Amino acid sequence: MPTILIVEDNPANLKLARVVLEKAGHVVLEAMDAEAGLALAREKRPDLILMDIQLPGMDGLTATMELKRDPATAAIPVLALTAHAMKGDEEKMLAAGCDGYLAKPFHYQELLARVAALLPPSPIQGEGENPVGS
Ligand code: MN
Repeated sequence: MPTILIVEDNPANLKLARVVLEKAGHVVLEAMDAEAGLALAREKRPDLILMDIQLPGMDGLTATMELKRDPATAAIPVLALTAHAMKGDEEKMLAAGCDGYLAKPFHYQELLARVAALLPPSPIQGEGENPVGS
């Protein structure tokens, strides 16, 4: 069962994402700031991280750069959550190592689709080998 870490300081957004992902059968881990998120990511090695960009203290872009710099967590896909999805911001998110982003407020179907696209294919459904890091 895929494990997804949500790093989000807004309780309502956090709860929405958790409920949607749990209903879809994912195991959900939560952190409300970047420091706690980084610690959980290193300890639990989730299959995907939803990363709010605007966090108190360390922001989500800095946290993503930390994750991508650490060989232990570099391969974990990061889906950025942002209320400011302008063109310049998208470049910044991709430059920081984010694998995609979702603009808030998001619809739950959109969240599930983006999550499914970033999760590694399951051994049952996958078609042949999928090289790591591709
Ligand atoms: Mn936030």
